[in-house]
Amino acid sequence: MSELNKLAEPRDVEIEYETDTPVTYEVKGNVAWIMLDRTTFNNAQNGQMTYALDDAFVSATNDDEVRCIVLGGNGKHFSAGHDIGTPGRDLHRDFENRLLVPSHTNKPAAELLYTREKEQYVGMCRRWRDCPKPTIAMVQGACVAGGLMLAWVCDLIVASDDAFFQDPVNRMMGIPGVEYFAHAYELPPRIAKEFLLLGERMSAQRAEQFGMVNRVVARDELRGTVSEWAEKLAEQSRLGNWLSKQAVNQVEELMGKRSAMDAQFHMHHFAHAQSHLMTGDSISGLDGKAMATANRKDADRSKAGKGDANG
Ligand code: ZN
Repeated sequence: MSELNKLAEPRDVEIEYETDTPVTYEVKGNVAWIMLDRTTFNNAQNGQMTYALDDAFVSATNDDEVRCIVLGGNGKHFSAGHDIGTPGRDLHRDFENRLLVPSHTNKPAAELLYTREKEQYVGMCRRWRDCPKPTIAMVQGACVAGGLMLAWVCDLIVASDDAFFQDPVNRMMGIPGVEYFAHAYELPPRIAKEFLLLGERMSAQRAEQFGMVNRVVARDELRGTVSEWAEKLAEQSRLGNWLSKQAVNQVEELMGKRSAMDAQFHMHHFAHAQSHLMTGDSISGLDGKAMATANRKDADRSKAGKGDANG
C-alpha cells in the first residue's frame, strides 16, 4: 500500500466532560428552545455539544408540534467559540457521523482536521441552516468565532445590547476566518474585511446597522422579545415559513454562498496545515485562555484609544 493510503493510529487523549448534557432541549407551546449549556466554559463547542445540538435540531424537525426553533446559550455568553482547550475538548474522539463523511481520528496529518471540520463544522452548520422550520438565534454576551457560526445559521438574530461579535482567528492564528464563511454575506465586503483582518469586537448595535442582527434589546427583554417572535412564527403557515426561508437562502446560493464557503474552507485548511508545519500544531498551540487574555487586552487597548471598545 502506498504511503498516501495508510491510516494512522488514533491518538489516545484523555477527555473529561464536565456535563452529560451540553445542550438542553425544551418544547414550550409550539416553540423548541435549544440552549447551549456548558456555562463553565462560556458554551465552548466541543464535539459532544455539536452532536447534542444536531440531536436537538433533529427532534425539533421531526416533532410536528414544533413550529419554530430558538437557539440560545445559558449563562453570561452565547458562545465563546469552538473548544480549543477545556478538559472536554474531544478533537480526537469519533462520533457517529451524520453526513457522508468518514471517521476522522485515524486519518494522518492534515486529513484528520479536514475530515472532522467537513462534518462537524461546515457540514453540520449547512444542515442546520437548511432546517425546514424558522430559527431564531438569541444572543447575549460573547458571540465569538465558532459562536458566529451558530448565530449565522439561524434565520433571525435577536441580540441583547451587551452582545458582541468577533472573529479573531486571522489575528490570533493566521487562519482566514471560521469554517462557516458567511462573513461577506452577513456584512458588506469592506466591513467583512475589517471584521476578518482586524478581528476586533463588533457591538450588537453596529452589527444591527449592517443588518447582521435583526433587533437589539435590553438584556432583560431578550427572552421576551424572542418568545414573541417565535410564537408569532409558530402560528403562521408551516409550509409558508419553510418556503419563505428557502426563498431567501436560495438568493444567497445564487450569490455564490456555497462556492464562496467551499473556496474559503480550503484556504482555512491550507492555513491549518501551514501552522502545523511551522509550529507542530494546527492552531499554533493556542488555547482558550491565551485567546481570551489577548482578546481582553485588545478590547482594553481600543477602549483607551478610541473611547469605543467595540467599534
Ligand atoms: Zn478549522
